[in-house]
Amino acid sequence: MIIDPRNKYSIGIIPIQHQKEPGLDAKLTPPADHGEASYKGAGKLAGRKALITGGDSGIGRAVAIAYAREGADVAISFLPSEQTDADDVFTAIEQTGQLAVALPGDLADEKFARKLVHDAHDALGGLDIIVNNAGKQIFNDDITTLPTEQLVETFTVNLFAMVWIVQEAVKHYLKPGATIINTTSIVATQPSPGLIDYAATKGAITTLTKGLSQQLAPKGITVNGVAPGPIWTPLQPSYGQSPEKLTKFGEDTPLGRPGQPAELAGAYVYLASADASYVSGEIIGVTGGRLR
Ligand code: NAD
Ligand code: MG
Repeated sequence: MIIDPRNKYSIGIIPIQHQKEPGLDAKLTPPADHGEASYKGAGKLAGRKALITGGDSGIGRAVAIAYAREGADVAISFLPSEQTDADDVFTAIEQTGQLAVALPGDLADEKFARKLVHDAHDALGGLDIIVNNAGKQIFNDDITTLPTEQLVETFTVNLFAMVWIVQEAVKHYLKPGATIINTTSIVATQPSPGLIDYAATKGAITTLTKGLSQQLAPKGITVNGVAPGPIWTPLQPSYGQSPEKLTKFGEDTPLGRPGQPAELAGAYVYLASADASYVSGEIIGVTGGRLR
């Protein structure tokens, strides 16, 4: 069946809405699509063991559902306040018969971030896919008012926790054939003026991904990234955008609409699968046609 990508989804009018941080998928209006009704697995990740940070909602949720339907056991990390979103993901994973592991905690806490890797490994009985996807994004369009606390926390959650997780995983568990996938963003190369600190973390993540790919290829470990454009997730109405921007979210992409988390799953499945055996240091853009 041929689908016109411009109107694969009709999101309709996005009402003004606000949530406290972190936002919940359950409160997103209109609701997002994570592939619950559509993603069909083909055994591409049979027997694999994946840790997905921020797997409770948004892009991470779509990846968790797709990975389980492809035959992987999945551990997800999330903040304790997101337990209800996480429960919805577990229901979806358990329907596939795959193992689902919940690892709540704050990635800004280095001890938690490091222990997370060991807990995921022990609960899954192995670990060979790491999806570093958790992220913090707080809108601020005036550099003179950017709070130091926000600057430090955004870098800690988005970048430093990623390094801590990779350190533990590489040191203890990742063997040849394992893969690391980092969620970066189109703003790494097209920074929006209201997301300076966030965009800087994404620039750093892109560079980290490329550099790490060079360091880990000799160990048989691939490292890649995905750069989403504007995707309809709870990150956006929880201080991620200005309210005016939110109601027109994604309309200015060449395809004329925001993306849905479900439209990201294929890129993450591809990069984790044997289909991507000769791919490392690559960033796949899923941007609605926006150039990076
Ligand atoms: P989301 O809110 O659904 O996911 C982000 C997740 O990060 C949360 O679910 C939360 O569990 C986790 N997180 C945040 N702070 C944390 C902390 N201190 N400790 C532990 N976990 C924490 O939103 P999303 O849009 O799906 O975001 C996923 C990734 O995609 C992020 O890295 C984000 O930067 C990136 N991204 C999103 C967009 C977009 O338009 N939505 C665009 C480009 C990149
Ligand atoms: Mg969430």
